[in-house]
This record gives sequence, structure tokens and C-alpha cells, in this order.
Amino acid sequence: MAKIVWDAGHGGNGSTPGRRTPDGEYEWNFSDKIVRAGMSFLNGYENAQQLRVDDATGKTNVSLSSRTNQANSFNADVFVSVHQNAFTGSWGTHSGTETYVMTPASNNPKSKALADKVHPKLVLAMGLNDRGIKAENFHVLRETKMPAILAECGFMDSTIDVKRMRSEAVLKSVGEAIAKGVAEYLGLKPKNEGVDTYTVQRGDTLSSIARRFNTTVDALVSLNELSEPNLIYVGQTLKVSYTYTVQRGDTLSSIARRFNTTVDALVSLNGLSDPNLIYIGQTLKISGSVPTPPKEYVQLPGSAATWRTYKLDVQPIKKNSDWSLTPSAFGGLEYEILGKPYPDVVTINTSRGKRNIYVAASTGAKIIKK
Ligand SMILES: [Zn+2]
Repeated sequence: MAKIVWDAGHGGNGSTPGRRTPDGEYEWNFSDKIVRAGMSFLNGYENAQQLRVDDATGKTNVSLSSRTNQANSFNADVFVSVHQNAFTGSWGTHSGTETYVMTPASNNPKSKALADKVHPKLVLAMGLNDRGIKAENFHVLRETKMPAILAECGFMDSTIDVKRMRSEAVLKSVGEAIAKGVAEYLGLKPKNEGVDTYTVQRGDTLSSIARRFNTTVDALVSLNELSEPNLIYVGQTLKVSYTYTVQRGDTLSSIARRFNTTVDALVSLNGLSDPNLIYIGQTLKISGSVPTPPKEYVQLPGSAATWRTYKLDVQPIKKNSDWSLTPSAFGGLEYEILGKPYPDVVTINTSRGKRNIYVAASTGAKIIKK
């Protein structure tokens, strides 16, 4: 379990004096959105336990010692404080993003390593000057017992930076950028909802796999971070995320059977309110093991009085047939196809064991999938 503490600096809605843009927008209100986005991003990772040590309602300004005490008793693995910078308090064109660790940085290699993961992503997301990773003696950096960083995302009193800070989309991507850096530092793995693995079989290509899982080659390439999409090998394990389009005749339990999962799992994964109400063409997320490909069957028409069968170890030619099926006696017969040893010859299981039969189109035999 990895424990992450988030701290949006100061208090919300003016509960801290100062700490606002020259137009009166509060620092905490920008940082709050970043922290929320970061926390919701890390909720998509396995084994991430998060705690927020400022007042998330924005009503009060939690003291700095309360923030660091909470982080220490939580036994956090990282501490991330989010702030917005200020220079003169009057509008100017100074600009940029900086990340702080406790000074001297050389005494805090873990905090520096955390900053090295987070800062470049934060700079990209803010889209502002890179003012670098810096070291300062700040309370939240000094009094925390775990690797700790403090991000000054942009200048609240910069006419350049404030434009970025006023964008909800920017704040969201900044929160996600910080969270991504934290996840990298901690080695967290994303939760694989609806994702499973598939072992590459002989004859597979990425596009045949994509077809089978109702996905695209691009999606497989990106999910598996493949550098050479044409170089997959037999036995390779690929991550696959798949969906299934409901066909005529499907029920949720037939789909569950086919994908080796349960009706309950499908209901919960797809947020279905009524499991009996699925409709043709509906796309369902599937999380289970690899779907079983449809089986092939051969249908022998009821118009045929006899149908020669051959033992598996003989050539399937007339003189080698020692026993026949009688489709007309049954109004037609249907067998699962177990193999295709020769062109137009299939192996089926009969009352006398496995047999080959001849099924060229001219015979009237039909091959169907289901
Ligand atoms: Zn601040």
C-alpha cells in the first residue's frame, strides 16, 4: 500500500489573508482543483491510499503544523503541497513553474527524486517557463518525515500565468501531471479495469487479435507500448481491453459463459440497472478471460440417406469407408467440427468415436459458426 498526502496551500475562499490574484481570486481555489484532479487520477491506480490535509471544504485555513502532523501520523510515503506563486502582488509579466524540496537538496535525495519525476510533467501541463527545482526551508518540507515537494505552479500576479490558472482544463491536467509523477516515483500500477491478457497463438497478427477483441491495432499498440506492431511472437502476453456488441439471441448469461465471467461481473462493470434488459447492438465492457472463439458445426441435410465416414488413419476416399451416418433418419444431423485434416474434410465425434467426413459444398453439407 502506498500512502500519498495532498495539501492545497492555505485555506479557501479568503480564509487566509492575502494569497490572491490582484483581481481577488484565491490561491487555494486554484490549488484545490489541481489536488482534486490529482487524487481522482490516483484513484485509478492500485494500492494508492490518499489523504488530504488542508480543509477540502475551503472553509478554514488548517495550520501548517496540523498538516505535517497529519502526514506523519498517516505514515505517508510522499507529501505533495500545491501552491500558486506571487511576486509583487501587482500584475506583471514574470512567469513560470517551480518545484521546491527541503534545503539543502543534497540532504534530501528522495524528495529530489520525487521532484525529478513530477516537475517536468508539471511544467509541460502548465505550459509556462521552467524555473527549475529549488530548495527552501519551508515548514511542510522541513517537518514532514517522508519525501516531500511543494509546487508553485504559476504566478497568480502574472498576466501570462493567470490565464492558464483560470482554465479548468489546465488545472485538471496539472493535477494529473503531478499525480502521474507521484505514481512513477512510487512505481504504482494502473488498475486494469476491463483489461485482461491474451497469449499470442501461431498465426495471430495484431489485426486478427484486434478483430477478435473488438478493438483496434492502435489501441493494442498503445495498451502494450509496442514499438514494433509487426513484431509479435507466439507465446507473447498482450494486454487486451475488450468490449462485446450484443447479438440477436444473446442473453447476459450466454455472454458471461462465452467470456468465462459472471452475470454479476457484467452487471457491475457495465452499471446495468436491469440485467434482463440488454439490446442488440449494445456495447458491453467485458472483464474476464479470453473469449472462446465461436465453434464451427457441420450440418448434414435431411435429404441425405447416408453419409460415409472414415477412420482418422485412412485416406477419406470411398473404398476406405466402413460405416455411414444416416441424416435422413434424423431429419438432418449436426456435429461440432473438431478439426479440418484435409480440404473439404472435417473431423467430428460420432457414436463410433472420432471420424472424418467429406463436406464439400456440392454435398449439401453446411458449415456454420455459433
Ligand atoms: Zn502559497
